[in-house]
Amino acid sequence: MICTGSLAPVIVRTMKLLLDNYDRKINYLRLSITDRCNLRCRYCMPEEGVELVEHRDLLTYEEIVRTIEVFACNGITKIRLTGGEPLVRRGVVHLIKRIAKVEGIKDLSLTTNGVLLKDYARDLAEAGLRRINISLDTLEPERFAYITRRDRFKEVWEGIEEALRQRLSPVKINVVVMKGFNDDELKAFARLSLTYPLHIRFIEFMPVGEGNDWNGEEAIPPSQIMEEIRGIGELIPIGPHANGGPAKRYYIKGGKGEIGFISPISSHFCAQCNRLRLTPDGKIRTCLFSDEEIDLKGALRKGGGEAILEEILYQALQAKPEGHRIGDIRFKKCQRGMHAIGG
Ligand code: SAM
Repeated sequence: MICTGSLAPVIVRTMKLLLDNYDRKINYLRLSITDRCNLRCRYCMPEEGVELVEHRDLLTYEEIVRTIEVFACNGITKIRLTGGEPLVRRGVVHLIKRIAKVEGIKDLSLTTNGVLLKDYARDLAEAGLRRINISLDTLEPERFAYITRRDRFKEVWEGIEEALRQRLSPVKINVVVMKGFNDDELKAFARLSLTYPLHIRFIEFMPVGEGNDWNGEEAIPPSQIMEEIRGIGELIPIGPHANGGPAKRYYIKGGKGEIGFISPISSHFCAQCNRLRLTPDGKIRTCLFSDEEIDLKGALRKGGGEAILEEILYQALQAKPEGHRIGDIRFKKCQRGMHAIGG
């Protein structure tokens, strides 16, 4: 697609620079391609009774690519595919191949639970995926079966090994840390970064979704995790990466990988937030923690042209809140669960 651009004057100050109302540069779209998942992590998705998006309401791959083409013309350069579990949606490799070819997309990544990764890693790499995040909250198979309600640790570990073999880089391991849940495994996770070139990311548990039991007391501050990890070796800080993620990064002296902390609650990074999200049913969300959504699917299905899609993008920029309200008395958990938004 050739970018013609009927640009909104205030927000897009120069071609390919999207600024929101708070002068934040927005260049990152998190794209959830399905709300289906092959795990049922206790803190994320109930075992039963989940109301799933009807197939006819899922954005088609055509609609997704069209959206990305228009957004890329306007300054979106980074795409992450997520879900639900993105690898359960048929044709995902083909989608990645198409997104990788969109002009202007410089960074394409995927977040997966890893269950199907062993079989997909090679095709994903060949399709143009460069890096990958794998969610894993425990290294103990029995605990894994408890947390996820599925006995699939072995597949996930094999998926991680395959991702490394295929030279996806970096391979990040996302660990949601919760008191009494997996906080006795922090050192074991950190040690992985000594032996493998894995980037371990310790992530704070967040209040997302009505059924989520967050009460603010499960979180373990990064300082406490660091204290524990220091028992393994000296933690050396790493400066911010060109990709500009929100993690505070370190490596253990002599290690092959690194360790990072993502703490959206205890030290929120809203002032640096560069993201929009697109739900599987075609709604733009401007903040993970807010239920405010802007309908894109309606415009796509009415055959809306480039100008309409751009207009919706600008609306989203204007609607993006300055920050989340967690900790504020007015804060209310959003209704959609993480599986339906895309973590
Ligand atoms: N199925 C894929 C996966 O497991 O990576 C992608 C979707 S999943 C919703 C994305 C990430 O969100 C996972 O790392 C999961 O642990 C995390 N997550 C879900 N609920 C969360 C919560 N309340 N707080 C923090 N992270 C959460």
